[in-house]
Formats: sequence, C-alpha cells, structure tokens
Amino acid sequence: MEKGNSIYQGKAKELYLTDQPEVLWVEYLDQATALNGVKKDKVVGKGQMNNQITSKIFEILADQGIESHFIEKISNTEQLIKAVGIVPLEVVVRNFAAGSFSKRLNVEEGVKLPFPIVEFYYKDDALDDPFINDMHVKVLDIASDEEVKEIKELALKVNEELKKLFASVNIKLIDFKIEVGRDAQGNILLADEISPDTCRLWDMDTNDHLDKDIYRRDLGDLIPVYEEVLNRLNTL
Ligand code: UDP
Repeated sequence: MEKGNSIYQGKAKELYLTDQPEVLWVEYLDQATALNGVKKDKVVGKGQMNNQITSKIFEILADQGIESHFIEKISNTEQLIKAVGIVPLEVVVRNFAAGSFSKRLNVEEGVKLPFPIVEFYYKDDALDDPFINDMHVKVLDIASDEEVKEIKELALKVNEELKKLFASVNIKLIDFKIEVGRDAQGNILLADEISPDTCRLWDMDTNDHLDKDIYRRDLGDLIPVYEEVLNRLNTL
C-alpha cells in the first residue's frame, strides 16, 4: 500500500490518499485541542496512544459484530481505513451526567441517567458544533429519517459494547462521541475514533478522570492517563 497526498488535516489526525481509492491512510498526531481549537498544545506521545486505543476498540467491536471504517493498524501512529463520506454529526451517548449536559441542565456530574440518551451536534466548527434534534437533521438534509433511526440504534449498540468492555478493565463509561460515514454503497458505518479524546472514562473505584478532561480542565499530565487506559485494554 502506497501513501499518497494529504487530503485533510484535522485537530488530531491527518488523512492521506493511498493507491487504492477505497482506502485512506490516517496518521494520529501529537496534538491536543479543546474548546473547539481555542486551547491547543503539542503533546508528545498522544498520537500513538490514541491510535493504539482506537485500533484495539474497533477490533473488539468488530468481533462483537459492529463493523467500522477501521481496516488495520499499520504502525504505532497509523491506520488504514475505508474511505467514507462523513455525516456531519457528532453523535453523543450519555450514561451519566457530565460536561455540557451538566452545565446546560444543572445536573451534577456523575449522576446516573435512568437510561442512556443519544444527542446530535451539527459538526460545523464555524458554528461551534451546535446542539440539534432529529428534525434539524432532516431539515438540514444531513440524514434521512431512516438513517437517523439507524444511527441512534448503532450509537446505543456501541454504548452497550463499550460499557461492557470498559467495565471489564474497571472503567465507568460516562459518555462518548462517535461519528458515522456512508460507504460507497451508502451504508452507514461507524467511523472516526474511539479514544480518551472522545470518551469520558472514570476509574470505577476512585472516579479519577482517565480522559481528555485532564487536558480540558488542566488536571495534570495527559500521557500517563492515556497510557493507563491503553495498558488496561491491553490486558484483554
Ligand atoms: N466530545 C468529543 N468531541 C467534541 C465534543 C464532545 O469527542 O467535539 C465527547 C466528549 O469527550 C464527551 C462527550 O462527547 O465524552 C460529551 O461531550 P460534552 O457534550 O459534554 O461536551 P464538552 O463538555 O466536552 O464540551
């Protein structure tokens, strides 16, 4: 597989073409951002942590019957993925109150929700990823009713698998964000990454943060915490 030109540089990953049109090459970068890019730092070692964690999680999800765009990890910081058209939604699932949910609705962080909820945010940096509902998704022609149903079902299925997976390494899954794409046949496929950048993970015994809140909230060094998550996952 040949690495081609760079086609997109995101906040934490860079995407390259390959010699196969249906395959892209992703490089995970040593970059941390928060507050929609307002806070930004180079964090040496972060790229390889997130690549390894995401690869491991996508492999486990595939074993549980949840396909994603992930093809294979090709180095500590790189993966091959299927090319998909990303649906411009950040799909958030919450098991416990935290972050923007807690702020907006004045519910203390860590309060268990009676059932998991799915939220949609419109992926648009210029608009600061606004919170939207199913009808906005339809009116803005982001996805059809059928796709919305499918995306929600997928998000909840991923939640069930991730909850089990993290519980087995003594981690509580507070909330997380996924993205989905459409493959060449128009099928909805889990995409992007699943890592401590995109999940809130609390140690089950201590409630210590094992995720990007360490960086967002200036709680300390991010690398040892991400390493802890990777080490726990590597015991599986
Ligand atoms: N999240 C993400 N990318 C974003 C916004 C949120 O991966 O651009 C994740 C975040 O890590 C958390 C979940 O989605 O696990 C819910 O985030 P929330 O809405 O509480 O926003 P935040 O407090 O991070 O601004």
